[in-house]
Amino acid sequence: MRGMTETAPTGLAIALEPLVTRVLAGNPSPYTSTGTQTYLVGTADVAVIDPGPDDADHLSALLAAVDGRPVRAILCTHTHRDHSPAAPALKAATGAPIIGCAPLALDDGGPRADAAFDTGYAPDRVLADGEQLSGKGWTLTAVATPGHTSNHLCFALEESGALFTGDHVMGWSTTVVAPPDGNMAAYMASLDRLMGRAQDRVYYPAHGDPIENPHRFVRGLAGHRRQREGQILRLLAQGIGDVPDMVERMYVGLDPRLHGAAGRSVLAHLLDLETRGRVVSIGDVWGLAA
Ligand SMILES: [Zn+2]
Repeated sequence: MRGMTETAPTGLAIALEPLVTRVLAGNPSPYTSTGTQTYLVGTADVAVIDPGPDDADHLSALLAAVDGRPVRAILCTHTHRDHSPAAPALKAATGAPIIGCAPLALDDGGPRADAAFDTGYAPDRVLADGEQLSGKGWTLTAVATPGHTSNHLCFALEESGALFTGDHVMGWSTTVVAPPDGNMAAYMASLDRLMGRAQDRVYYPAHGDPIENPHRFVRGLAGHRRQREGQILRLLAQGIGDVPDMVERMYVGLDPRLHGAAGRSVLAHLLDLETRGRVVSIGDVWGLAA
């Protein structure tokens, strides 16, 4: 985990570049750093990316930042509860359609995901990978980046080389990959996908500072995950195959409130290694494959 970021004060609209303005929501936590950062894209008309939690103060701050301009779209990168729940209220206030990621697939008759998900999310239009949306002087392209969640999208601003990375790549901490909806192999593939995008100049994450050296940063994230995988394999070789025991040894000094999330990420690695035939599980205990 990195330190807290020097983000703008809650509720103020901060211009980052001619087409991009940021508004911080008042939901700081061990999972969100200083809070969710909502982005406005455009000048004469705007798109709003990740409207954030359903919070009256944040909605007022967003409407003040919009300042009566037409809102062409409310875009959501994914449907965690710190990202999408303000969408219906913002839609009601502006008449803008909710566009972007798909609602989560609930394919097993029960919630595939946990209470962190916004089950009320109902988009007017889902963007497929590569689909575009435009306004006066701006064009946003959806970039499918599953892993943190199965429905995660980044949005590329074609005019400036900015990529809105949601929770796929964050500016303050590594992202949580929590099975069953989170998937480590998909997350690693989505990091590779960003490595292949030469046009991205800066990332604007939903949490943390802008990332000015995106490819170096992503290479670092991928290396960090490979290190974690190596640690897991070494622990299993020592006969330590219980996830809480592994978390204790792998995340020395971690805020205890984050131990559950760290355990989910370790499990995501184990499931990925299992798919690759490297490890096996007996009940809740993991070991190296013979
Ligand atoms: Zn998230």
